[in-house]
Amino acid sequence: MIDKMLLNILACPACQADVDERAGQIVCLSAACGLKYPIKDGIPVMLVDEAVK
Ligand SMILES: [Zn+2]
Repeated sequence: MIDKMLLNILACPACQADVDERAGQIVCLSAACGLKYPIKDGIPVMLVDEAVK
């Protein structure tokens, strides 16, 4: 579970949209982007290279 304060300051590095936590991943809320970022050891990995569609 990622802290809500942290979620609020995170943004998708690809499109700068807001993100949310879903099913253990950080999900970009932009419908046009929609990248999913992994969470490793409780730390969101906000890297486009690590993201999956
Ligand atoms: Zn995005």
